Amino acid sequence: MSVKENFDKIQSEIASICDRIGRDPASINVVAVTKYVSNERAKEAIDAGVVHLGENRAEGLAMKQEDIQEQVSWHFIGSLQSKKVKKVAPHISYLHSLDRVSLAKELDKRLDRELACFVQVNVSKEESKAGLDIEEVDEFIQELEAYPSLKIIGLMTMAPFVNDPEETRPIFKALKKIQLDIQAKNYSHAPCTELSMGMSNDYQVAIEEGATFIRIGTSLVGNEKKEGN
Ligand SMILES: *Cc1c(COP(=O)(O)O)cnc(C)c1O
Repeated sequence: MSVKENFDKIQSEIASICDRIGRDPASINVVAVTKYVSNERAKEAIDAGVVHLGENRAEGLAMKQEDIQEQVSWHFIGSLQSKKVKKVAPHISYLHSLDRVSLAKELDKRLDRELACFVQVNVSKEESKAGLDIEEVDEFIQELEAYPSLKIIGLMTMAPFVNDPEETRPIFKALKKIQLDIQAKNYSHAPCTELSMGMSNDYQVAIEEGATFIRIGTSLVGNEKKEGN
């Protein structure tokens, strides 16, 4: 299927889920994750109407940005090493993987404007996943007040890959709950109005549980690094 067909299908699915649960479809932002695909395929996504593009590595981001001149918002969704901050921070509008104070400090040093950040939470407690433990989130967000260029717009998580996406629901519910707890604190640097959750396998469930940014690679632009896509 073309990227356009995939995007249309995802859009109509978002519309029908939102209709069913009483959410505004405009509150859901689709981030096309282009890490597995060529610049051409990423451009097809833009032609199809995608306005958010996501990459998880500094090199991949640079490679896409060299070639893509269209006005889109760039998202960095992978673990960011402090030594790569200088290369990445000036070129993105959103960071989905803020997970330590040393990273916040380096970002704040390199930025001369505000950067929208998601604090990454390891809700599932998988060893292989980045992010803070649930119990650490509030204190971490309080510490971030010291870094004025960082605006904490929300929380991000990755659910484990499972065959039945329904199994991811408790993970997304838990992230929503943490978001409500943080919002109740009224931190001015951390309005925390957004939730970045849901990928190809589980975005429908994530939307039902309150996602406002869904990060979709395989189901939208495909995966040229894997056969059969
Ligand atoms: C790769 C990646 C995605 C997209 O994965 P798909 O399953 O291909 O949709 C989303 N979020 C993060 C953090 C990723 O690294």
